[in-house]
Amino acid sequence: MQRIASKFFAICLLAVASTAQALTIFTCEPEWAALSRELAPEAKIFSATHVYQDPHYIEARPSLIAKLAKADIAICSGAALEAGWLPALQKRAGNRMVRDGAEGMLYLSEFIETIEKHEAEFFSTEHVHPEGNPHFHLDPDRVAELAPVISKRLQAIDPESSLDYQKALEQWQTKWKLLTIKWKMKAAPLKGKPVVIQHTSFSYLTHWLGMNAVADLEPEPGVPPTMAHAQSLVVKTREKQPVAILTNWYQNDRAAQWLAEKTEVKHLNLPATVDLKGEISTLQHLFDHLLSEIQATQ
Ligand SMILES: [Zn+2]
Repeated sequence: MQRIASKFFAICLLAVASTAQALTIFTCEPEWAALSRELAPEAKIFSATHVYQDPHYIEARPSLIAKLAKADIAICSGAALEAGWLPALQKRAGNRMVRDGAEGMLYLSEFIETIEKHEAEFFSTEHVHPEGNPHFHLDPDRVAELAPVISKRLQAIDPESSLDYQKALEQWQTKWKLLTIKWKMKAAPLKGKPVVIQHTSFSYLTHWLGMNAVADLEPEPGVPPTMAHAQSLVVKTREKQPVAILTNWYQNDRAAQWLAEKTEVKHLNLPATVDLKGEISTLQHLFDHLLSEIQATQ
């Protein structure tokens, strides 16, 4: 009887071992969680930040440490966006899989060109983005460059499911190519149009659309808007007639509202990333939404 029981136990163990374990993916920003959902539908995915949070500054909370401790892979923008909190998480999570330099620690900025690197030269104070602008998920072409990077890394970590990841990537690429064509056509009238920004959150999008950022509500990159600075932008804003003043959901938009009223330019408060629990939960929804909102100012 005991022999039968132990034999049965051994079979059970074998069954468990042969079932491929879904990966646990930790992302620093919600955009990479949304993309990972499409590239690894079976995976357990967690994002450290959400759309109402400023990804430059979050607290290394114990719940985040616990999540990182269990992760097989961490996917982050890099370019120092998470420099204020990720190193503390990594240290306290003690997970060798997601240490810097490990295969499970993926900094996407290492695989694309960042923009606005030159700005560092112009500011004597410490610049918030010395390695270039890390908000590159708002460029559909850069997202297309990064999807295979993520997929390849997932395949390296979980070779047993390699074919599944490849298939998911191919499907995503076919869809994304068509969407990009649609967005380019829709956005054509925005080319060359001026816009006022607050921080460089939407820089990749405005670049992709060919729009001109004529003023920034931040007196210096990373320095919150001041009324004195907003006042200094009134004449310029009236003169340039931008299509909108853009802010995002996690920013304080009081200065933007003030400038909008003063100059009668439309103020648009838009999500800078996906809202994983809301309606704009995929990158496709996000671009659809952003383009429609900016387009509506025309
Ligand atoms: Zn930033």
